[in-house]
Amino acid sequence: MELRQKLAILADAAKYDASCASSGSRRRNDGTQLGDTTKIGICHSYTPDGRCVSLLKILLTNYCIYDCQFCVNRVTSDTPRARFTPAEVAHLTIEFYKRNYIEGLFLSSGIIRSVDYTMEQLIEVARLLRYQENFNGYIHLKTVPGASPELIERAGLVADRLSANVELPTQEDLDRLAPEKSRQQIEKTMQEMAGQILASGEEVRKHKSAPKFAPAGQSTQMIVGATASTDGQILQTADALYRRHRLRRVYYSAYSPIPHGDDRLPPEPPPLIREHRLYQSDWLIRFYGFGVNELTTAAEPNLSLEMDPKLSWALRNRDRFPVDLNKAPRELLLRIPGLGVRNVDRIIQIRRHQSIRLDDLAKLRAPMRRIRAFVITADHNPEALRIDRDDLAHRVVTPHVQLELFAAAGSARTGEV
Ligand code: SF4
Repeated sequence: MELRQKLAILADAAKYDASCASSGSRRRNDGTQLGDTTKIGICHSYTPDGRCVSLLKILLTNYCIYDCQFCVNRVTSDTPRARFTPAEVAHLTIEFYKRNYIEGLFLSSGIIRSVDYTMEQLIEVARLLRYQENFNGYIHLKTVPGASPELIERAGLVADRLSANVELPTQEDLDRLAPEKSRQQIEKTMQEMAGQILASGEEVRKHKSAPKFAPAGQSTQMIVGATASTDGQILQTADALYRRHRLRRVYYSAYSPIPHGDDRLPPEPPPLIREHRLYQSDWLIRFYGFGVNELTTAAEPNLSLEMDPKLSWALRNRDRFPVDLNKAPRELLLRIPGLGVRNVDRIIQIRRHQSIRLDDLAKLRAPMRRIRAFVITADHNPEALRIDRDDLAHRVVTPHVQLELFAAAGSARTGEV
């Protein structure tokens, strides 16, 4: 098969993997190498459905001995198959890089022969690029769960980022749709990588020239909407993985129906906005101090598709508002719908010198329409304006208590209650 045909098949087969963002790696060119990356990462471009395409994103092969029902490359699929040699992938990467089409490589693979054999083949591509082609650009290698620790170590020394896919939110989901995979094995691989990343970081702190293991860390991908798992379960899994294995990112990939898919799979993809809401929630958990149980509840286990998760939370917790921008601590400011981390930090800076007024928020380009209802500033108090709120009666009526004789007499005289 011609290289061009292989490329068409194997680039198409790779499009289902969303975990290809490249930020967080720094590789300086010492003048003798080809390419580099910067800490802010590769410049991304996105397909209309939001996936990153700035890396050469391909599979080494779409042959696979596993039978994951959600995957077009499963052993029982009748999709056209192809396989690159490691030298072919290295050649393509260099050619594309020199033409400025890409800034790095994202390489995954179906499982051929065995987990370790597949991992060796992936490492061989990176080895050829680094040591034969002197390639200093970005490389993201997929780690096959269950690969031996020695191979994981070798992979981390040639790649910027490693990722082992968790695939589905729960073990029950895996049992139903990916019977060869287990959460325990996937997490064991993640733990292995986390340990190596940590050890390497410490070594580099002691000796600057020590080899770096996966300097852009590890990530994973979870497919959303292939099973009935709720957003709450998805976020619980992501939160646990972040904490247990120090992941840089969890990528959420909306399930795409595949030709001749299993009856247990939904016929339609979930709305893409669901993926977006999960990313927003992920951000709120990592950087805004929200807990999973605040964003989804037993009564509402799925995120609202109509409004963002912070606004949903605020509307469920109206008694926490309005928040006084001139007095509230940072963690409370971060909970105000429409205020991001950067603006919160600016507000804290500004209020050291002057009282915050609505004008200041407008200057910060905060979304005024959304924020007004939730904040108090020196010149604005929404409490006074909200005469039409549903719970106004509840707020102004003093709970009934039996009046004492003299108080009752006073009330009768003045008419006040
Ligand atoms: S192991 Fe990967 S490539 Fe193979 S069927 Fe499962 S998801 Fe697809």
